[in-house]
Amino acid sequence: MRCFSCNNFSLEAVCKSCIEDFLTPEMIKREVGNLEVISFFDYYLTVEFIKSKYTTSGYRVYKFLSQKYIAPFIETYVQGLDESKPLYLIGVDENVSRGYSNVAQMVHYGSLKSGATALHNVLKAQNRVQYAGESLEFRLNNPRNFIYSGPSDIDAILLDDTITTGTTIEEASRVLKEHNVNLHFALTLANAKEGMDY
Ligand SMILES: [Zn+2]
Repeated sequence: MRCFSCNNFSLEAVCKSCIEDFLTPEMIKREVGNLEVISFFDYYLTVEFIKSKYTTSGYRVYKFLSQKYIAPFIETYVQGLDESKPLYLIGVDENVSRGYSNVAQMVHYGSLKSGATALHNVLKAQNRVQYAGESLEFRLNNPRNFIYSGPSDIDAILLDDTITTGTTIEEASRVLKEHNVNLHFALTLANAKEGMDY
């Protein structure tokens, strides 16, 4: 197998030296409404990995990122919880393209061995207008219109690949709140600073 980034031989999707060079978690924290959003990486330093979702090789990359970063983080968090109430993982719009959904992979591999339970395909956007490169005003004028079809009165973590302006996560968390889904926090791989193109 070859490293996604440098193309050198590697047993994993990303080789050890590319992990060292590009994938050191920063654990960036932001507040969206009352929700804490935790991101592993700066978007601009990891853009080639994040944007792999637009290609078929993104399947390998997101599996790798989810197993290496998301699952251990959630496992540690679950172990630190006092109560034994189950914790669920909900992805922001598991939209399938090129045969897979990168967000569904985050939910799936994030749940394996972590003690949290995957809730697949329960938060769907009715509006998939492209936000890339668009302003906050455009995003606010074109809401995702999420529909939640999962169970009510649960505890959960919200997962997405990137946070940019925060409008998507804010809208998603508002819909979940209407169903008494208690979000502990949201977790994204990358944090893109507001107003920058992505
Ligand atoms: Zn490499």
